[in-house]
Amino acid sequence: MSRTYYWVIDMDYDVVIIGGGPAGLTAAIYASRARLKTLVVESLSVPGQAILTDSIENYPGFPDGINGFELVERFKKQARHFGAELVTGDIKKVERSEKNFKVVLEKKTYSSLSVIIATGARPKKINIPGEERLTGRGVSYCATCDGPLYKDKNVAVLGGGDSAVEEAIFLTRFAKKVSLIHRRDRLRATKILQEQAEANNKIEFILESRPVEIKGKDKVTSVMLENIKTGKKTDLICDGVFIFVGYDPNTAIFKDALDLNDKGYILTGPDMDTSQKGIFACGDCTQKLLRQVITACGDGATAAYSARQYVEELKGLAYK
Ligand code: NAP
Repeated sequence: MSRTYYWVIDMDYDVVIIGGGPAGLTAAIYASRARLKTLVVESLSVPGQAILTDSIENYPGFPDGINGFELVERFKKQARHFGAELVTGDIKKVERSEKNFKVVLEKKTYSSLSVIIATGARPKKINIPGEERLTGRGVSYCATCDGPLYKDKNVAVLGGGDSAVEEAIFLTRFAKKVSLIHRRDRLRATKILQEQAEANNKIEFILESRPVEIKGKDKVTSVMLENIKTGKKTDLICDGVFIFVGYDPNTAIFKDALDLNDKGYILTGPDMDTSQKGIFACGDCTQKLLRQVITACGDGATAAYSARQYVEELKGLAYK
């Protein structure tokens, strides 16, 4: 039997998981099943992308799709069932001491032998005049939250990826017309989403056009578009502008501690290990090819497995 270090007994947790989305909660399920003392800290201020998705159609096992909020609630139930604790709060910093990590929240600090970062990503701004001033007054980054406000109105959706097309389709439940505006001559989105959008007669496609200004005094009245080829500018009259031009990772507090890529995504190895021993990362906050619920879950499982190996090594309990 290997040595057991006494200091590890004083730790609050074996693993603190930062983030309560699919990646973090899957890590919690795996970590708690490995009998690691597991805490998930879920952000109050930054809602996850999955819970804002009306219907997730590509998560295996749900051929009719499943509401994102409901899926994440199921993950939480499963994590709690195996013993993980879940709290809400915003992390201020993670400090490394000789023996452990301190995960610092506004009013509480947890000590842990390992940390899994699963902080996800938030919608990117497009940075055009009017965007910031009219946010909450017609400019939105969340169709699930704000779509019902646009019953029988005209809305513009900016972007050409999966998010833009999926949310444009969702918005047709409420809006009279949805104008999908993309800067290229074809969409980036998955083919099946494109087919669904093309079959929806409430959606019009405005391609090879880029938004240059969102107009309106107290609320949105139009978005000015510039044709990429001709340079001609036109005002598209609308009541709302939904922006889906990608995501930025929620990694600002780790920028001095971990290796990130030029866009701020955390660099991980195949075991979801980061540049700091004992810190693992998973899901949308990491550099990866495909950001989906299913890949976030896979990363989360791997991160928990690696954290378990790390913790058991520290405790002298590694099965070799
Ligand atoms: P994305 O794939 O990065 O697409 C962003 C879109 O916005 C692109 O079409 C891009 O144009 C456009 N764009 C970026 N900056 C712009 C600007 N300044 N002005 C005008 N247009 C701009 O982002 P996403 O659609 O949010 O998807 C993010 C990830 O989540 C992807 O991996 C996606 O597959 C995944 N996702 C999956 C699903 C699903 O499976 N159902 C749903 C949502 C998201 P260009 O094409 O010219 O670059």
